Amino acid sequence: MAHFAHARVDLDALTSNARLLREHAGGTPLMGVVKADGYGHGMLPAARALIAGGASWLGTALIGEALQLRRAGITVPVLAWIIPPGEPVGEAVGADIDLGVSDRAVLDEVVSEARRLGRTARVQLKIDTGLNRGGVSAADWAELTEAAARAEDDGHLRVSGIWSHFACADEPGHPSIGLQLSNFHEALEIADKVGLAPEVRHIANSAALLTLPETRFDLVRGGIASYGLSPIPDFSLPGLRPAMTLRSRVALTKRVGAGSGVSYGHRYVTDRETTLALVPLGYADGVPRAATNKGPVLLGDRVRTIAGTVCMDQFVLDVGDDRVEAGEYAVLFGDPGETPGVPTAQDWAAVLDTIPYEIVTRVGARVPREYV
Ligand code: PLP
Repeated sequence: MAHFAHARVDLDALTSNARLLREHAGGTPLMGVVKADGYGHGMLPAARALIAGGASWLGTALIGEALQLRRAGITVPVLAWIIPPGEPVGEAVGADIDLGVSDRAVLDEVVSEARRLGRTARVQLKIDTGLNRGGVSAADWAELTEAAARAEDDGHLRVSGIWSHFACADEPGHPSIGLQLSNFHEALEIADKVGLAPEVRHIANSAALLTLPETRFDLVRGGIASYGLSPIPDFSLPGLRPAMTLRSRVALTKRVGAGSGVSYGHRYVTDRETTLALVPLGYADGVPRAATNKGPVLLGDRVRTIAGTVCMDQFVLDVGDDRVEAGEYAVLFGDPGETPGVPTAQDWAAVLDTIPYEIVTRVGARVPREYV
C-alpha cells in the first residue's frame, strides 16, 4: 500500500549523531536512550543505528522495552530504570538487563529473584541528587548502599552502576546543576566507603553531554541529541542531523472565495479568493491540535502556517495563488541540512511552547516509519 503520509527516519543520521556525540564527549562511552519507541523513531532500528555509531549501552524506561531489545538479539548492556511493583524483574535478571534501583524494596526483590534463578543480578543504584523524581533520597542512600554491599558479598548482586539525573541541565548556568553534581560526588564517596566499585557512574543527559564536560564520568546518556535535536533552545552541536522527517502528500486542493471560514469553528477566515490545500495528517497522527493557526509547514518553496483548526485526520493550508497540486509533499519538519528552509521539530516545539521530545514522540502509530 502506498502511504500518503510517513515519518521518514534517516538511519545514517542516527549513526552519525552517535559518532559525533562520542567525539564531542571526548570518547566517553555513550548510552543511546531508546525508550518510548526510540523517541518515536522506532526502537529497534534506532538502537541498531546508534550501536553502529558507537553507542555501547542502551537505555530504556521500562523493563518491557529492554526485553524487546534482547528478544531482537541486541546484546549490548541495557539499563531499564522505571520499576513499579509487578514488573517482570526475574525476566530482566535472566536477560542480563541492568536494573535502575531507586529504593530498598526493589533492591530486595531483585536479590530474591536472582537467588531464585541462581544468577547474579546487575543493578545500578540511583541517587536523587535534586530532581526529586526517581532515585533514592540522600537520607536513605547510606542504608541502600550498605544493603547492596551485603548482597554483593552473598554473590547474587553486582552493583554495576551508580547514577543520577539532572533537573535543569537544559538551562545553562542554572544553580541546581552545581548542587546536583556536588551531591553526586558525595554519594559516590559514600558508596566507595562501603566497598561498592561500579563499572559506570553517570549523570549526563543530552544537555549535560553537550555543554557540561565535568558531568561525563564513565558514561553519557544521549537521548534527544542522538535523534539530532537539541534540548537547549537556540543551541545545537554543529553536525547533528535531525533524523526524522514528517511529511504527507496533499490530498486535495480547492479554490474558495474571500471571507470563507476554514475547518472546524471557522478559526481561520480567508481574506481573498485563494487556494486551500488539504493535508491528511491530524492530531491522531501527532500533529497537536494546539498547532491550529500556528504550525509551520513547507509546501512548494514556502513555509506556510496551518489555516484553522487541526482535525483528527487532516489540516488545511492556505496557499494563495501558488500552484499546488494534489500529490505534492507537505513537510512538517525535517532536516534543514537536507531540505533547505524546512521547519525542524525544534521550530514546532517553539511555536507550541513545548519541547522537541514531545513533537517526535507523539507521531502516531498510524504514520508508517520509512527507513532510509
Ligand atoms: N536519563 C534519564 C533517566 C531519562 O529519563 C532521560 C530522558 O528523559 C534521559 C536520560 C535522556 O534525556 P535526553 O533525551 O535529554 O538526553
